Amino acid sequence: MDRPDHTGSYYAVSRHRAPERPSLEGSVGCDVCVVGAGIAGCSTALHLAQGGLSVVLLEQHRVSWGASGRSGGQALFGVAAGQGKLERLIGAADARVVWDVSVEALTLMRDLIRRYSIDCDWVDGFLYTAVRERQVRELHADVTELHERYQYGSVRYVPRAELRELLATERYLGALYDSNSGHLHPLNYTQGLAAAAETLGVRIFEGTRATAFSAEGTGQVHVKTPRGEVQARFLVLCGNVYLGATAPELAAKIMPVATYIVATEPLGAARAEKLIANNAAVCDMNWVLDYFRRSADHRLLFGGRVNYSGLKSFDAPAATRARMLRVFPQLEDVRIDHAWGGHVDITLNRAPHFGRLAPQVYFLQGFSGHGIALTGIAGKLAAEAITGTASRFDVFARIPHAAFPGGVALRRPALVLAMLYYRIRDLV
Ligand SMILES: Cc1cc2nc3c(=O)[nH]c(=O)nc-3n(C[C@H](O)[C@H](O)[C@H](O)COP(=O)(O)OP(=O)(O)OC[C@H]3O[C@@H](n4cnc5c(N)ncnc54)[C@H](O)[C@@H]3O)c2cc1C
Repeated sequence: MDRPDHTGSYYAVSRHRAPERPSLEGSVGCDVCVVGAGIAGCSTALHLAQGGLSVVLLEQHRVSWGASGRSGGQALFGVAAGQGKLERLIGAADARVVWDVSVEALTLMRDLIRRYSIDCDWVDGFLYTAVRERQVRELHADVTELHERYQYGSVRYVPRAELRELLATERYLGALYDSNSGHLHPLNYTQGLAAAAETLGVRIFEGTRATAFSAEGTGQVHVKTPRGEVQARFLVLCGNVYLGATAPELAAKIMPVATYIVATEPLGAARAEKLIANNAAVCDMNWVLDYFRRSADHRLLFGGRVNYSGLKSFDAPAATRARMLRVFPQLEDVRIDHAWGGHVDITLNRAPHFGRLAPQVYFLQGFSGHGIALTGIAGKLAAEAITGTASRFDVFARIPHAAFPGGVALRRPALVLAMLYYRIRDLV
């Protein structure tokens, strides 16, 4: 199969060298077959191997070719849906489990980086910024709730005057600062997870799409690839928006939404430090949000603008640069070296979508733009479930999910209308 290399991103040109893995030819057997080598798939494989299981990981292109290798690299607490919505969906006790998992995700990430010496430029700190007065009030309420209800002590409110010292922009009215969240080079992190999994015996095949699978009762799973097959006791589907026809029932529950990032030329340490003095990851509170951070080589990586309509004519690099200049007009003279995009897997309720298609077929998807930390622990939960402790996985599996109205073919118009509503809301 054709094996496109990584998308033309800043990460692709600054990644560490990684071996090209072979394509699968012929038949192999294992305990667990994992499909998709993003963070979710690599973490699942790694945790299964830590538990002593034999694992085959199939990736249609290269390890970390998808969202994991293109993202903003912001590793954040919580889930995209927010705790209030989760409580309405699954009740307070289960929502609390999800919250605890999301916080543990950040600890796990730090542990994996340390334990496997993954060189991925981890930096502590996250600023969640308010653009409107309404959002300032929401931030105050969030900080109080996180302290009192969730005993999450790493967040504090940052008033405008202090924020002005941290970020060289007039745009924000205040922020929530979390010292427990942070950012990293997501492609190097994912490659590091894959390499760690291989040291524990995981066999990775690149250029190998899982085209179909069949599961018999509670017995074997057969996974077909263009020139081979995998026979396993369990299958974990981590293909996210690219899974497509391999598992159509999963595709109906997520919408691929395009988002774009630009990387400036290197600004030099002094100029980059002036932009974000504490080197935190930054993200605003708008529905159509801006997110940005410094890179290790002193660029600004700025993401924003989503393309819900799927129209190809949209000039993403120019639009993203324009958004960057709205925050930092002082970068008018700065060259854009890289521009790229990817797809986030949004669910209708923006809660994560984990579960089973059959007793031995698991899936992880629906991170809704908030997956850099959560994908890692999701893989651990799937491994726990397969090795006999499904309680935490099953809390996530209880979150109800509806298919997008209109099905895979007609879901986009419905989403465009919904997004129009939220974009108007960003303006008030
Ligand atoms: C531009 C962008 C910016 C983002 N920024 C952030 C951020 O700052 N913070 C944050 O928390 N989240 C962010 N996200 C979201 C985050 O990146 C994702 O939630 C997360 O990486 C999803 O990981 P994954 O392993 O589920 O999927 P992916 O990383 O997409 O991996 C899926 C892999 O499966 C492979 N695959 C699919 N189908 C098959 C098949 N049939 N056979 C074999 N292989 C297959 C694909 O090739 C792909 O490599 C961003 C996403 C994008 C696109």
